[in-house]
Amino acid sequence: AKSAGGNRFEFADAEADARAITRHGLTTALPAALERGEFFIEYQPLVHLGDGSVHGAEALVRWCHPQHGVLGPDRFIPLAENTGLIVPLGRWVLQEAVRQARFWQTRHSDGGPLRINVNLSPTQLHHPRLVADTVDVLERSGLEPGALCLEVTESALIGADDDLLKPLRQLAEMGVDIALDDFGTGYSNLANLRRLPVSVLKLDRSFTQGMQQHPADPVDLKIVEGIVSLAHSLELAVTVEGVETGAQAQQLRDLGCDTAQGWYYARPGAPDRIHSLVLADAV
Ligand code: C2E
Ligand code: CA
Ligand code: CA
Ligand code: CA
Repeated sequence: AKSAGGNRFEFADAEADARAITRHGLTTALPAALERGEFFIEYQPLVHLGDGSVHGAEALVRWCHPQHGVLGPDRFIPLAENTGLIVPLGRWVLQEAVRQARFWQTRHSDGGPLRINVNLSPTQLHHPRLVADTVDVLERSGLEPGALCLEVTESALIGADDDLLKPLRQLAEMGVDIALDDFGTGYSNLANLRRLPVSVLKLDRSFTQGMQQHPADPVDLKIVEGIVSLAHSLELAVTVEGVETGAQAQQLRDLGCDTAQGWYYARPGAPDRIHSLVLADAV
């Protein structure tokens, strides 16, 4: 590989240039994209590990770019975060996802309370209108606060002081669930969990991946077991991400996890997919 070093260097340089241009291009295109309605949301179901029934869905934003095609959030969320566009974009996602959840609920009055999970970026978390905007979106849609779960990454809350936690506490008091996303990747102080207004831990995909092997890594199993028992003793529910096989689902169920999300159940997709999954449950 060393002998190709010269070429690689050139290639890497060209690649870096292309990336920079794209990044710059994408960044400047973001505001107009929001106005033109180029963003759309895919929904991925969250299921109860016990019986496989649909618990809710997570809203995952995508950008249908006129030149580059469909871009995943990893391509543009960081850019939107840097420029502050994440605030109006995030507000749009919240509004659209909540509206969709309300629509599902009115269609499936006997299908149980379908919940909607929406991701919050750190900038949104710091925004002074977070609570007011969320209340406004809920009131206008008619969705009860208890059906909304806001996902905040563990790293966004590391070292969070009371000023940062106050809006989340207010939302939690209204009945909105707060989930700690990507849990287990942020080295947070476990004792700190008690201080946070969270009701759900979302165990990061890396743990589920550790169970891919046969037999699963016994240390991974022990860690998950420990996290689940800690979470449950703090009255937190545990959701696992990235479940790709039935064997993983079985194992996570045995370890006491509550809900799961992953390709094994469904990939993120159009709202109609959730619709039919919930309908299938209801019969
Ligand atoms: P996340 O919140 O951890 O979302 C889960 C990611 O895992 C999604 O990637 C989902 O498509 C993917 N995934 C789900 N099941 C599986 C599986 O079984 N195997 C594998 N390998 N992957 C699976 P996606 O949609 O590309 O989203 C990436 C990240 O972008 C999200 O990670 C979230 O942090 C962020 N994001 C997405 N939508 C929004 C949004 O509206 N606002 C903000 N602030 N961030 C968002
Ligand atoms: Ca998430
Ligand atoms: Ca996650
Ligand atoms: Ca993630």
